[in-house]
Amino acid sequence: MKAINPATDELIKEYTEHTIDQVNEIIELTDTGQKSWRTTSFAHRRELMHKAAAVLREDIDKYARLITIEMGKVISESKAEIEKCAWVCDYYADNAETFLADEIVESDASRSFVSFEPIGVVLAVMPWNFPFWQVFRFAAPALMAGNGGVLKHASNVPGCALAIEEIFHRAGFPENIFRTMLISSRLVEGVIKNDRIRAVTLTGSEPAGMSVASVAGRELKKTVLELGGSDPYIVLEDADLPVCVAVSATARMINAGQSCIAAKRFIVVEKHLAEFEKQQTAIMQSLKIGDPLDEDSKVGAMARLDLLEELDGQVQKSIAMGAKLLCGGRKADRPGAFYEPTVLSSVTKGMPAYEQETFGPVSAIIPVKDEEEAITVANDSVFGLGGSLWSKDLKKAEALARRIDTGAVFVNGMTKSDPRLPFGGVKKSGYGRELSHYGIKEFVNIKSIWIA
Ligand code: NAP
Repeated sequence: MKAINPATDELIKEYTEHTIDQVNEIIELTDTGQKSWRTTSFAHRRELMHKAAAVLREDIDKYARLITIEMGKVISESKAEIEKCAWVCDYYADNAETFLADEIVESDASRSFVSFEPIGVVLAVMPWNFPFWQVFRFAAPALMAGNGGVLKHASNVPGCALAIEEIFHRAGFPENIFRTMLISSRLVEGVIKNDRIRAVTLTGSEPAGMSVASVAGRELKKTVLELGGSDPYIVLEDADLPVCVAVSATARMINAGQSCIAAKRFIVVEKHLAEFEKQQTAIMQSLKIGDPLDEDSKVGAMARLDLLEELDGQVQKSIAMGAKLLCGGRKADRPGAFYEPTVLSSVTKGMPAYEQETFGPVSAIIPVKDEEEAITVANDSVFGLGGSLWSKDLKKAEALARRIDTGAVFVNGMTKSDPRLPFGGVKKSGYGRELSHYGIKEFVNIKSIWIA
């Protein structure tokens, strides 16, 4: 397994993959570890989880650098990612006990209640785009609930995968409560079939989700799937245009556009179309592509060259089908997987930029005549992850937000994840929820206890 710096094409390090025997041993040890971990008190888990947050903050520069060299995002964003991981650790350290407190239920019993109990070892299959955050937003609630975790991370971020295991060890967690397996996706089926694995969470693409869910389905194991998105960003007639345009570029360009909840389809009413095109293009052209380790760089590398080529294919096909190229539309003229910030307009149904997820720095502007058409276009997607809607009339915006078929809608702001709010999608964006009290309850046995 090779870690290659996508900004320089250089090999960082080659890692030896775990064998099937080693994988089985890791799972067995984690299963044994979890059996004693589940008996520990919330106070004990809280103390360790706060320590994990402290370890992250103490070594923020080291971990942020690791993210940047393995997957190319700019260092300022990597630091923000580490800070957010510390936040989610603190959040679940402070709240898990309350979220999982017994719920008394009146029934025909003298006493009946719901007890939220750990289910065992959960397999986490994770993507490279937020290589720390995606793992911590699963691991913090899972461990606080008394579960164990085994991680199969994306093959291009093995250093991050091992660093996360090390962070839990440094924080004082038992050695075998959160373990990393360095394996290719071919071995995932066997892991899911292992009797000691009780459930699976996957964040990634739809094909990976379908594959994992079908194996887990045959094994009757619960899954949570956090998949792709093509989030709408709706600009209505009464939008505050200057703010809306400025935020639109951030919403599209975070992580060089490689975010599941990045705004991807900009659905703009006719009144604002010309101005939106002009202003968004100007901002996109002003963003400085540069060495991701340089604090001044605004746009880093994409994670892999093959992903850049796939994105470019979507752009070229959309142009061939009639989309207007306002800027970018090509690989940047420098070594590494850098793609120029790109704006496509006149995007219509049938084009890849309309129908598919574009996982990179490409904005697709879809003109519409009014708000009714805007909502129709917003919902005309196989995905349903997040969305953003811009209007000064908050009452109207709230009513329209309820009509958008996604797991989240942000009014007059960009879609973002926050430990306090549930996160997840509908349709081909997956099912189940992470974060908040909903997230921690995905992998617990919701058990009724009835006493005569
Ligand atoms: P990916 O190719 O699906 O990979 C995700 C993970 O799944 C990796 O660990 C990968 O391992 C593994 N995997 C791939 N195919 C598999 C299979 N058939 N069976 C078992 N495991 C398999 O996705 P990605 O390119 O890393 O990430 C980008 C996608 O993730 C985008 O679609 C994005 O929208 C989505 N995403 C969603 C969320 C969310 O919360 N909804 C968040 C972030 C990203 P290998 O690396 O070894 O192939």
